[in-house]
Amino acid sequence: MITIAILVAAGRGERLGATRPKAFLELGGRSMIERSAEAFQAAAGVDGIVAVVPVEEVERARRLLAPCARLQAVVPGGERRQDSVQAGLTAAQAGPDDVVLIHDAARPFVEPALIEAVAAAAREHGAALPVLALVDTVKRVRDGQVLETLDRGELFGAQTPQGFRLGLLREALASAVARGLTLTDECLAVELAGQPVRAVPGSARNRKITTPADLEWAEALLRREVA
Ligand code: C5P
Repeated sequence: MITIAILVAAGRGERLGATRPKAFLELGGRSMIERSAEAFQAAAGVDGIVAVVPVEEVERARRLLAPCARLQAVVPGGERRQDSVQAGLTAAQAGPDDVVLIHDAARPFVEPALIEAVAAAAREHGAALPVLALVDTVKRVRDGQVLETLDRGELFGAQTPQGFRLGLLREALASAVARGLTLTDECLAVELAGQPVRAVPGSARNRKITTPADLEWAEALLRREVA
């Protein structure tokens, strides 16, 4: 059984107000996609890495990721995140019992130990993801009106990498596509297919860089680590 990482990096980064696709923004001199690839290169048990990037960035990504010995392919992504995931799955050289780890390249500080924990849980349970307990009390609000307060004890933020047996993920995605659903993550497809998904402890470092405030957080983290 092999394990292939798919780094999805084909988003435009509009919420960041970036002038180039956000995975190519540099943090401390290295782009987010390079940092993510390095974590998967360092993790035990990862056999290959596929990067999915905007079509105009394929050549640049190949150059940036050339030092990554596990790199298998760099392919263009699609309109929606799920289209980019599909492009990565098509490029991955893996069979139905192999494990794929889908990771947002916009989470550049993922630790190798977290990758290994997700991969182990996916091998054992078929599907797994890292989750982090929410710190705020969570309200359901519609049109400025609070509808209810949810039980925080059972609420967690979903992170990546999300790991799956490839056969299970392919079937779950095909059924979600047939129902015309838009997915915000891949575990949702497996949940909707009625299959169990294992949650493992995530990490605060594994934050997704989405807004300018996230970028400031990342720069402060790197300054602290250099100091
Ligand atoms: O937009 P969001 O921050 O949720 O994107 C999560 C990840 O999915 C990012 O790493 C982004 O580059 C990737 N993505 C993609 N293709 C898209 C949209 C998002 O690869 N069409």
